[in-house]
Amino acid sequence: MSNLTKRGLGESDGRAITSAEEFRSRLLTLGLLVDGGAIGLYHRSATFESIVRSIEALASKAGRDQSPRQLYFSPVIGLATLLGSGYVSAFPNLIGTINSFDGDGEALRELRSRVDAGGQWVEMTSPTEVALCSASCHSLYPMLAHTTQPEGGSIFEVQASCFRHEPSLDPARMQSFRQHEFVYVGTAPGALEFRDQWLERGRALLGGLGLGIDVVPASDPFFGRGAQLLSRGQLDKELKFEIVAPISSTQPGAVASSNYHEDHFGAAFDLKDANGQVAHTACIGFGLERITLALLLKLGFDPALWPGGVRQQLDISVERPSALS
Ligand code: ZN
Repeated sequence: MSNLTKRGLGESDGRAITSAEEFRSRLLTLGLLVDGGAIGLYHRSATFESIVRSIEALASKAGRDQSPRQLYFSPVIGLATLLGSGYVSAFPNLIGTINSFDGDGEALRELRSRVDAGGQWVEMTSPTEVALCSASCHSLYPMLAHTTQPEGGSIFEVQASCFRHEPSLDPARMQSFRQHEFVYVGTAPGALEFRDQWLERGRALLGGLGLGIDVVPASDPFFGRGAQLLSRGQLDKELKFEIVAPISSTQPGAVASSNYHEDHFGAAFDLKDANGQVAHTACIGFGLERITLALLLKLGFDPALWPGGVRQQLDISVERPSALS
């Protein structure tokens, strides 16, 4: 039987939540999320997942007029894609490479004996040619390698499960989450126009759900020496904006993020615009789990009790999913 009992549902309208830890504890107690066995890792209930999918559908609708090519990427990417993304240098602390075992018979015996004895075995594996996806749009650029974009550029709608190694008890910092993105590949003015247009669309979409949002210039959490300089440069050039809202506590965090990459991916993967110049790219990513959390925090734990206008926009039926009734 689900923990999401009638008594638990709607008990809190979110206003009582004072910390991310308390919010996490309520989500787990109510069964909206299930502990995934490592810090920052969660399984999702049918209710949580239905909200995620409603947000995905709403975002998709917002981009329908641009007839984007829709792609659902694998959560696993090639090492060349990871390298081309720039994440290896910029965020080595957040990426995830994948190891496997390829030792000989002697090594296999050693591995098995360590496993049987409850000893250290991970060190006996070695890196493979694949890694975990850090951002949804990363798989797009190698796919377009050595191509020229048409006049007006190309627009894509992409989604992937992403991984960031930042273990935290704050549910806003999941290690595994989904980004639903819209991406432009084309000229520099086209990329900026797309970015501005989508920031407005994102503001309307998320503001319309009653989230107390703000749009703010932002920078990425670059790692190590030179990090401050890189962040400063990103802010000065206005390359990154975030749509922020309270996600797991009163502290606002990014529920969507818009990036103008200039010619970074164009140069890394040999993408050309219609004029034969190195293509510029821009994207906006909606954090599906974070938006879901922000709604649960703001409107309460039972979507059936959310305001009619929000339920209508998200097409959430008053009926609960049968698994939770
Ligand atoms: Zn992106």
